[in-house]
Amino acid sequence: MGKFIDVLAIGAHPDDVDLICGGTIAKMTSHSRSVVIVDLTRGEMGSRGTPEEREREARVAADKLGVRDRFSLDLGDGVLENTSDNRRKLIEIIRNYRPTLILTHHWTDLHPDHAQAGQMIRDIMYPVGFARYPAGGEPFRPNEVLFFMGHTPFVPDFIVDIDDFHDQKKAAIRCFASQFGERDVEDVPTGISEPGFMEMIEARARYFGSLIGRTFGEPFAVTRPVPMYDPVEHYERFPKIFSSKSWHSHRLRSDSSRGSKPSETNVDDLEVKE
Ligand SMILES: [Zn+2]
Repeated sequence: MGKFIDVLAIGAHPDDVDLICGGTIAKMTSHSRSVVIVDLTRGEMGSRGTPEEREREARVAADKLGVRDRFSLDLGDGVLENTSDNRRKLIEIIRNYRPTLILTHHWTDLHPDHAQAGQMIRDIMYPVGFARYPAGGEPFRPNEVLFFMGHTPFVPDFIVDIDDFHDQKKAAIRCFASQFGERDVEDVPTGISEPGFMEMIEARARYFGSLIGRTFGEPFAVTRPVPMYDPVEHYERFPKIFSSKSWHSHRLRSDSSRGSKPSETNVDDLEVKE
């Protein structure tokens, strides 16, 4: 019987998990959840940085996020395939860690490696529990797989509030020095090395945060309805419908600019009157 962990996050390349759902990971570890990250490839097709460099950076980033362990497989950057051999390897990792949740790419992602990763996880979720499946380890199934949003947008099934963890996510992303920002004239410029990249990451988090009345959020999809234990307790944690912190701070600013004292401070009192 392997170890039990709370979250197994599976990314195609060494910085995917940090970039896409680093805030959620940081939040989980701050709640004393045990998280392990697996990078399916070593990122050897990347225009910048060597696989060794990226592996070192990934370990430092994982430390910043409070992750228990991180390791990479060598399943072929740019040529990741949903083969029976790769599925068996993933089944053995899942059976070894026995996570409550798996986080991975959405299967519709534009990047073929991301899409393959997401599809592979979907394909093994049933067989991972088969006693007679030709793979090592004890049969096991996680409680749920959460698919995160990379290149291709989808309507999220839920959004994780990462307000207190966005800075930690940015700090983890900055650990990937070979991938971000200007480093050397020899380095090939890529989308993620553009100066505006971090602003784009922030803009996305702000957009998804705004949808749930928070400042920052990270979107996820699941393949069945999200179960809810107590809807009242759940929704009490969040601002009322049609009220949001961003709307609230906008109102406070405009009130102050008119020289009047802001009359409202409780976000729950803010409602749009129809
Ligand atoms: Zn990637």
